[in-house]
Amino acid sequence: MKAAIFRTHGPLDNLEIAEIDKPVIRDREILMKVKVAALNRLDLWVRNGSPALKIPLPHIGGSDFAGIISEVGSKITQFVVGDRVVANAGLSCKNCDNCLRDEQSLCQSFKLLGEHEWGGLAQFVKVPESNIIKIPDHISFDTAAAAALTSLTAYRMIKTQARIRSTDNVLVIGAGGGIGTVAVQIAKCFGNKVFALTSTDEKVKKLIDLGADHVINYREIRDWDKELWKLTDNNGVDIVVDSVGEVVWKKALKSLAKGGRLVTCGATTGIKAETNIALLFWKQLSIIGSTMASDSEFREAMSLVFDKIIVPVIDSKYPLEQIQDAHRRLESGQHMGKIIIQID
Ligand SMILES: [Zn+2]
Repeated sequence: MKAAIFRTHGPLDNLEIAEIDKPVIRDREILMKVKVAALNRLDLWVRNGSPALKIPLPHIGGSDFAGIISEVGSKITQFVVGDRVVANAGLSCKNCDNCLRDEQSLCQSFKLLGEHEWGGLAQFVKVPESNIIKIPDHISFDTAAAAALTSLTAYRMIKTQARIRSTDNVLVIGAGGGIGTVAVQIAKCFGNKVFALTSTDEKVKKLIDLGADHVINYREIRDWDKELWKLTDNNGVDIVVDSVGEVVWKKALKSLAKGGRLVTCGATTGIKAETNIALLFWKQLSIIGSTMASDSEFREAMSLVFDKIIVPVIDSKYPLEQIQDAHRRLESGQHMGKIIIQID
């Protein structure tokens, strides 16, 4: 099969299109003929490599993908060849205490397709039966692949981890990214007012179209934490959704109202930041981490996509052969929403 692989970690010219053997499925796995995949910042991190990441090479990235089942394992009863399906990239043992209480992203042996195992930037990928759901006929492969990882991640962050209430005001930082564009829509669906922070006027306009009540261009308004204070009648916001990390951390904490929750799923600008502990206890703030989602959160998030409550924003589409251009676009940070890859 044709696949986008890298044989060593490093910059984007390490990516190449190669012919390699199709994966061989086990009893409870399906083989998906991939139609569309989508990139995440994770793909850059995995390609660049890190001492913490030990994976066999060559590797195939891609943690978002949708396609058609081309083979089913002998013990599979819920799916048949030809089904249109989308995958949840989170792999869990289904057997530990956390898995048994439907907290699969806390599994002791949690892994990701596209990170620890071969992902969907290939003509075929093998996926456990428990990681796929059928796509309704009215939803395209583009939409399903673009929505999966960001929707399940943002859904867990906002609904489960931050425990959003209908009166909560939410700030989404990095709102023009894959997670951000979905987080704005989920926050609007469950909460009260949604504030968004982004970098260009073009992104400001698009975020208002997505439902954000106020969008701040942080390049123009450097003291955006003070601006938020004004916009909320000096109360602050109840929830901050962040994946940017270090450069926004102090201001993000300052933006929170009493009892506020900062929920983070990433740190694209760096992992070390200062926390004012006095602010933390006096205002009774919570700092909450979040990674991927449980199996039921995946299904709930995708039902919002299938009901068109979440509509993923697609920035651009590249054929698999132009995988380097797609990675370059993601690295540039100029994209709005998801970069998708046409496989078949
Ligand atoms: Zn487990």
